[in-house]
Amino acid sequence: MPHQGLNFDEPLLFELSKESCGVDLPTPPKVRDRLGSMARLNPAALPNVSEPRVIRHFTRLSQKNFSIDSGFYPLGSCTMKHNPRLNEQTARLAGFSNIHPLQDIQSVPGAVALMGELSDFLKNLTGLAHVALSPAAGAHGELCGMITIRNALQHHGHHEKTVVLVPESAHGTNPATAAACGFTVRPLPADQRGRLDLQTFYNALTDNVAAIMLTNPNTCGLFEDDIVNIAAALHTKEGYVYCDGANFNALAGVVRLGDLGVDAMHINLHKTFSTPHGGGGPGSGPVVFSEALAPFVPLPWVVGNRHDGYRVLDTRTAEAPYATGRIKAFWGQFATFVRALTYMKSFGTMGIAQASKDAVLNANYIRAGLSDVLHPSFDGPCMHEVLFDESNLKPLGLTTMDVAKGLIDKGFHPMTIYFPLVVQGAMLIEPTESESQQTLDEFMVAMRDVLTMSPETLKNAPQHTPRRRLDEVRAARTPVLTSP
Ligand SMILES: *Cc1c(COP(=O)(O)O)cnc(C)c1O
Repeated sequence: MPHQGLNFDEPLLFELSKESCGVDLPTPPKVRDRLGSMARLNPAALPNVSEPRVIRHFTRLSQKNFSIDSGFYPLGSCTMKHNPRLNEQTARLAGFSNIHPLQDIQSVPGAVALMGELSDFLKNLTGLAHVALSPAAGAHGELCGMITIRNALQHHGHHEKTVVLVPESAHGTNPATAAACGFTVRPLPADQRGRLDLQTFYNALTDNVAAIMLTNPNTCGLFEDDIVNIAAALHTKEGYVYCDGANFNALAGVVRLGDLGVDAMHINLHKTFSTPHGGGGPGSGPVVFSEALAPFVPLPWVVGNRHDGYRVLDTRTAEAPYATGRIKAFWGQFATFVRALTYMKSFGTMGIAQASKDAVLNANYIRAGLSDVLHPSFDGPCMHEVLFDESNLKPLGLTTMDVAKGLIDKGFHPMTIYFPLVVQGAMLIEPTESESQQTLDEFMVAMRDVLTMSPETLKNAPQHTPRRRLDEVRAARTPVLTSP
């Protein structure tokens, strides 16, 4: 497709490399060749493009990047909410942004206090005892949590405990993490309520079970309401409950997961506590731990409290004899800590609870508003995201993919599709609390419009994008990133 209006067709930099440009450098003085057989035989295949063209190329590419700042982004499981600019302002304060991770820790007491206060917030919000701040994202937090559980089990001589239970409604990273830690994954099916059935769990709970990895709310956007019984039964067998807390946006300030029996849980600061993510910035996945796991938490630890001051422990001393070693260099994603704590302090505990309730309300508003045209996969209200499946699309001759592509032509980022796998043709919509009723109404009008379009039209959607429908599997598996 050629340029259309101000919508430029953007070739690869290598395809732009037609012109002759650059500067003529003087012939370099002769030096002794020290490369020998390592010398390059042909010149490097660098594109030959002038500076203005390079700048325009990358500026235009950056504008093709859809973001939460350009439109509604209801990508289920990802919590794409507004990131208040106040967070950015504090993260850029010179006292935070100009410090260096190799600096003597004694010289940055303010940074240590910030990590301490953030840890306190996380402990208060979850009712848990100890925090590892360093994990770099949610999946890394899972690794941190499961390594800690493995070390605790080994310490207590539970070498027989090699199995981790993972419900089908858990996030895909959960079984991957358990397997990466050397556990055997035992999947558990979801019941017709989209949740883990207690009897199924009891039947699977053999003596060799080390832990369960429970995503709560689960990937169907539903609260696993048997969590207290699940935790009690596991604790009787000296196993642990790992909760994937990436969906904390539904619960923060309302439910303390530690009170429900959770032993370890990661919190995606970049989701719940609003920092740019998904191509827009680094994540951060601190893990909170119960008293039972506290001695085994990976270093570094931030200890102390607001009144007596905070300090860091970064070696295995008498205070932390069983601590797991570091799982990440330095202290974690510090700038994300600043953003998250800014968000927490500007909202306050009551405000955080209100945000969670509004997130749940918004998801249920969409659920109620679209239930006559889309099929909700499960009965009853949802948490912070609503799951529809393709059963209402089939009679229309449409697929979930067609609907997603049609929404792009209407100016909306599609919801998460074909995930979770527990239903056919999943459409997982997470509006978050930061969207207004007006935006949600506009989205629902767009969705209704799409559903009245003919299959022929929709099969050709999107029509108004620089690239049309792609072979996404091929694009992911065999990407062609340079011209032949
Ligand atoms: C986002 C998410 C993860 C993974 O978090 P990352 O920061 O992307 O590694 C894990 N579990 C659930 C439920 C999630 O929503």
